[in-house]
Amino acid sequence: MSAQRPADFDVIVVGSGCGGSMSVHRLVHSGARVLNLEYGPEYIEEDLGSFEQYYDAYPRLGYASLKRALERPGPGSWKRAPYFEFADEAPYETAGEGWYWRRYRGVGGRSMFWAGVAPRMSELDFREAEVDGFGPAWPLTYEELKPHYDWIDTTLGRVGPSEDHPNVPAGLPQPPQGLRCGERIIQSTCERLKGEFPLLRYTHSPKMIATRPMGPGRAPCHYLGNCMEGCRNAAKFQAKYHLYPAAQATGRLTVRPNSVVLEVLVDPASGRATGVRYVDRLTKQDYEARAPILVLAASTLDTPRILLNSRSARFPNGVGNGSGHVGRHLNDHIQGSVIGYLPQLYGHRTYNDDGYTFGVMIPRFTNSYQKKRGFIRGWEGRSGSGKGVNAGLTGFGKGLKDGIRERYQARISLLGFGAKLDNPGTFVELDPSGRKDRYGMPLAKIHSAYADNDLKIFADIKEKFTYILEQAGAESIRPSASPSQPGTSEHEVGTCRMTRDPTEGVCDRFGRVHEVPNLFVADGSVFTQQTDKSPTLTIMALALRQADFIAERWNRKEL
Ligand SMILES: Cc1cc2nc3c(=O)[nH]c(=O)nc-3n(C[C@H](O)[C@H](O)[C@H](O)COP(=O)(O)OP(=O)(O)OC[C@H]3O[C@@H](n4cnc5c(N)ncnc54)[C@H](O)[C@@H]3O)c2cc1C
Ligand code: SF4
Repeated sequence: MSAQRPADFDVIVVGSGCGGSMSVHRLVHSGARVLNLEYGPEYIEEDLGSFEQYYDAYPRLGYASLKRALERPGPGSWKRAPYFEFADEAPYETAGEGWYWRRYRGVGGRSMFWAGVAPRMSELDFREAEVDGFGPAWPLTYEELKPHYDWIDTTLGRVGPSEDHPNVPAGLPQPPQGLRCGERIIQSTCERLKGEFPLLRYTHSPKMIATRPMGPGRAPCHYLGNCMEGCRNAAKFQAKYHLYPAAQATGRLTVRPNSVVLEVLVDPASGRATGVRYVDRLTKQDYEARAPILVLAASTLDTPRILLNSRSARFPNGVGNGSGHVGRHLNDHIQGSVIGYLPQLYGHRTYNDDGYTFGVMIPRFTNSYQKKRGFIRGWEGRSGSGKGVNAGLTGFGKGLKDGIRERYQARISLLGFGAKLDNPGTFVELDPSGRKDRYGMPLAKIHSAYADNDLKIFADIKEKFTYILEQAGAESIRPSASPSQPGTSEHEVGTCRMTRDPTEGVCDRFGRVHEVPNLFVADGSVFTQQTDKSPTLTIMALALRQADFIAERWNRKEL
């Protein structure tokens, strides 16, 4: 039996990650009373930041021994363990190529641990479907999103190159960190290759990091890394530091951590959303919360799960799923890397050149504007140099140690992110076997398949990066043998896509569910198509634009 809660709120926002936190921020500051329901706990201050060493932290994090802490999968991920995976609590099924789903759950969502790479989408990204005819076009333009990108740059802070690239608008960036030695060598190689590839640039990565003072509680970047452990300086964008304190100070925001939303409630007569049903993770008590407007921002994999689990006579296939598109069009990035060693830097003295993670971007430079190489769309690159313990050497003993020492500063890595395009074999559904998690929520079953276009992009990444390293004189060049497992990039989008035509998607151009006028989606699932860009800056800008739309319609009593 659900405990009823009064409708004390104007809006319920489900999820507090990159999309949800922006939505909460803008709605609260527009005067709305907001209830924010978040699956995970509040992040504990001490768990964030790269200063605490693992040999100090493991007892506090509940590991029996240092060995157990280090056995966690993924680099550094043992420190983030209390907030991700939830392996026993939220298992999932896969089919096809499999899917690596790191389920970060906590107030702030994945903003707390993301790398912060934040390129704007370009006009080409928004209109590319019109150029190559693949899939529906985005129902908005770059110019419509630009004011929201600008607001993020000036209010939250973002570094990057000061010059536009045809595929990546610069925006209003702060000064980036300098390039490391190896990166400078590759930069000059790329300059030499411009005759062959006119759009090739090896430049600073756009990142949501502030290198200038941004006010109380936010120090400029100190360039010590490792940003994906969490940044206690609050130089990198993290919702916990950047958005929640001011929103809570208004007195109009109620955040409820440990609240697992199971379904959207609807009025059978009008078809409008009336609220949500959720479970308290700690007490297992079942609740309902009601409000006139509902925003789902539970992420690309969990928002469709909630919608599909919301079945009624009015919506027999799940809320908003009359078109059958909820959960379809799931796409992330296909990744390929190439590593090499620059003899110019062998024996170079070791020095502190940590810097922030992923400081270099290689904007999409091949296959622009036309179908030239047997595939459509393209890929964007990242790069970094130095500190290579795995020196590509074999052997043992003193010889191996000396070799590693000699090559330590000489390592250069190039990592490509290719736009994985829509194919019918890649989607998320509720597990047809009927298995449920401990809260009674059906498990997600994630299907994935690489298509020919994806594999051609992967081959192109390896070919171009290998060529660049060869031209730089690198040795021991090692391209990745196979593409990353789907999901690895963490850039999944598209399961409730925005379309002009309601029969082709789930949401309209403001992320409003076509079939339910007071239900909105504000996370990665609204992407119409995947692009070569890291998606999160655009998720945030879309959430801001949507919140302005909600506030305007609400004030005109049109919602
Ligand atoms: C280590 C790492 C590095 C990354 N680096 C980058 C990068 O450099 N650039 C980039 O663009 N992207 C990066 N990403 C991806 C980026 O974090 C995501 O694109 C972004 O967080 C998506 O925002 P979102 O709001 O859709 O989802 P999230 O940020 O995941 O937020 C969803 C929230 O909803 C909550 N939730 C889920 N289910 C429920 C439920 N049933 N009830 C209530 N709440 C629920 C979750 O707990 C979570 O807090 C990275 C991700 C990781 C993990
Ligand atoms: S390098 Fe900069 S952004 Fe990264 S953790 Fe340190 S202060 Fe934060």
